[in-house]
Amino acid sequence: LLTLAIESSCDDTCVSLLSKHTALSGSYSTRASLHFNEKVTAENTGKGGIVPVEALKSHDTHLAKLVEKSLASLPEAPDASPGFKKLWLRDGSLKEKPDFISVTRGPGMPVNLAVGLNAAKGLAAAWQIPMVGVHHMQAHALTPRLVNAMVKSEQRDTDTLRPEFPFLTLLVSGGHTMLLYSKGLVEHEILATTSDIAIGDELDKCGRLILPKELQEDTPDTSYGKYLSAYAFRSEDDYAAWEIPRTRREEVDRPLNKYGWNLVTPMSKNRRLEFSFAAIASQIKSLVLDRQNGITSMGMMDDEERVLLAQAALGTAFEHLGSRTIMALEKLQEQGVQIPTLVVSGGVAANNFLRHYLRRLLDLRSFEDVNLVFPPVELCTDNAAMIAWAGMEMFEAGYRTDLGCTPVRKWSMDSECEEGGILGI
Ligand code: ATP
Ligand code: FE
Repeated sequence: LLTLAIESSCDDTCVSLLSKHTALSGSYSTRASLHFNEKVTAENTGKGGIVPVEALKSHDTHLAKLVEKSLASLPEAPDASPGFKKLWLRDGSLKEKPDFISVTRGPGMPVNLAVGLNAAKGLAAAWQIPMVGVHHMQAHALTPRLVNAMVKSEQRDTDTLRPEFPFLTLLVSGGHTMLLYSKGLVEHEILATTSDIAIGDELDKCGRLILPKELQEDTPDTSYGKYLSAYAFRSEDDYAAWEIPRTRREEVDRPLNKYGWNLVTPMSKNRRLEFSFAAIASQIKSLVLDRQNGITSMGMMDDEERVLLAQAALGTAFEHLGSRTIMALEKLQEQGVQIPTLVVSGGVAANNFLRHYLRRLLDLRSFEDVNLVFPPVELCTDNAAMIAWAGMEMFEAGYRTDLGCTPVRKWSMDSECEEGGILGI
């Protein structure tokens, strides 16, 4: 089964080709191969985050060319396959035609989504194959079922595992922070979501406040959260500088450091299953501004203090993520639900300190049996392989999307699209 996938919901224009082989020889086995997965990220001239108009222009400029480029990576058509399964390319090669198109239908900016969706409809109509419209966030959550990196507990030696439903999903990206009880392909019950900004957004804000200006000028994009982590921790040995709370009580009071400050972990005094990140960036903003304006007698921040602040920004955010994750596991346990696997996905899942943090936390809080699974780093941020995989799973489950469908700006994680798009199940 072969699919061509398109993703254009944000500022990355992405195309991917994925095939899935099922061999029924005695024992049942499946294997997926990624033939092509490339993206072009729009240049953000403003340096203040994503500029929707620039993203749209970039999709228009790059999408068709990326699709054309991907065709060279299609597998050779087997001689025995029927003519309607083959595709002649301009250079005279005969390729296997994709069986269906996968495309991001939402959530996101409708104008940006429409570039991908219209290209997908065109290909489906021209090649006479079905199309599957995919939920971008469900695709983030499903990526580890395609391929994953397992963060091992010291006690265990399993290398990889394909997370089977149900599992707990911690979705941490530029626009979302959610804990989900994932029961099926399109069944993701929301256990917690953010009441203000998403963690990725928050880390990007912190990065902008903390990173020295000359470093910011050198970054190729505005994902300052990513660069903040490289600044905070030079090597894995530095992770030990941030003490992980062993009990719920230790989450509350963190002593002041040698510079006389600490950051307060959001919602550490209440047990609501909810996220809130805005307060971290605002605490950092006042700390940085007070020092710049000479309000304290401490003078300007030196490099060492800045690094400590970067560690605290990440540590406090992950402490908050971790505390709600443990709460969700405990809540499900109280209901008699044992969760074998915690899947972490979305752009922030690329963070190695987070990988270390969550494994240590699970081990410290009696959840050492819970498998911890992340997508490979290159598949954490937006890409089309995740759309291809989600599309593949949905296609096999019987989903088809009508070619008259439209982009969906807001689309809840726990619902199928109501606007008449999904047929066939
Ligand atoms: P959404 O998927 O919610 O619509 P998005 O697609 O813009 O949002 P992603 O591409 O999944 O978000 O993730 C981008 C975010 O991930 C950015 O905020 C970026 O700073 C953050 N990020 C990427 N790599 C890392 C890293 N190594 N450490 C921390 N944050 C990271
Ligand atoms: Fe995303």
